[in-house]
Amino acid sequence: MNIEELKSKFLNADRIISVLDKKGKFRASIVKNSHTISTAIEKHNTDKFSSFYLAKYLTSASLISSFLKGEERIILDITSDGLIQKVYAEAMPIGEVRGFIKTSDDLHNKEIVPYINGFFKLSKILYDKGEPVTGIIEVKSDLVEDIIEDYFISSEQIPTFVKLDLLIDEEKNTVHSGGIIVQSLPGASGKEITEVKNKLKNSESLANKINMQKDLAEILSSYIIFDFDIIKSKRVDFFCRCSKNNFINKLYTLPLEEIESMKNENQNELVCQFCNSHYYLDSEDFNKIILAMKARKN
Ligand SMILES: [Zn+2]
Repeated sequence: MNIEELKSKFLNADRIISVLDKKGKFRASIVKNSHTISTAIEKHNTDKFSSFYLAKYLTSASLISSFLKGEERIILDITSDGLIQKVYAEAMPIGEVRGFIKTSDDLHNKEIVPYINGFFKLSKILYDKGEPVTGIIEVKSDLVEDIIEDYFISSEQIPTFVKLDLLIDEEKNTVHSGGIIVQSLPGASGKEITEVKNKLKNSESLANKINMQKDLAEILSSYIIFDFDIIKSKRVDFFCRCSKNNFINKLYTLPLEEIESMKNENQNELVCQFCNSHYYLDSEDFNKIILAMKARKN
């Protein structure tokens, strides 16, 4: 790779930046995550419908996580008995995001309305809290933007506005994806909050812009009405911390008989639901686990 290619790779990398209003009344983040979304679609081999919804939740998770610290985590979780049955998106402010979607087998019957009939749960895993901080709302809209905004106002009483944009071509080869979140801080007046909301909601689509222009701060400034300081800039990636070893460690929690029957029936495939990675146990792996379990019993 020559310098020009390296430079272009760096400029095209997925990134999220967070900013603070110079008057301290709002905070905001903007993410470009086209590669991340491409990777998610490729890993899960989702159809266009599922790709669209999964992408918007992954983008939302990245945006919300940008307000946390270090390796704190945010989990967005939808459980529903509609066309969409499950969406899970998890992100960390260091830039990692992962997730999956499950739809009903009736996927081609898009007549099922609403798509989501169920609940949205948001959990935060924070450094200074022993237990996850969790809020749940009943989903009243299929729009991801509405769900996130509804959650923050009804569960945390924080006016929050999101703009999520996505372009996927029919072959799912080209993806342009990005999003913006703006959150009011104590001190913002009702009038200012409405102005911020209207500006964000009435502005043009973000997806094309994010593809054409490289400077995220510059893009952000055309969607919000306040002057800001950049407080954080991070790379974003679809990343899962699963590994064959992690799976093997979990197998130790099962009864020995179950491991033996897995071995005998050649059930050797382990699949990570978060990233769809496949791991395979060979007979040596099985023998090692069984031997260790037997040793523990004695
Ligand atoms: Zn995984």
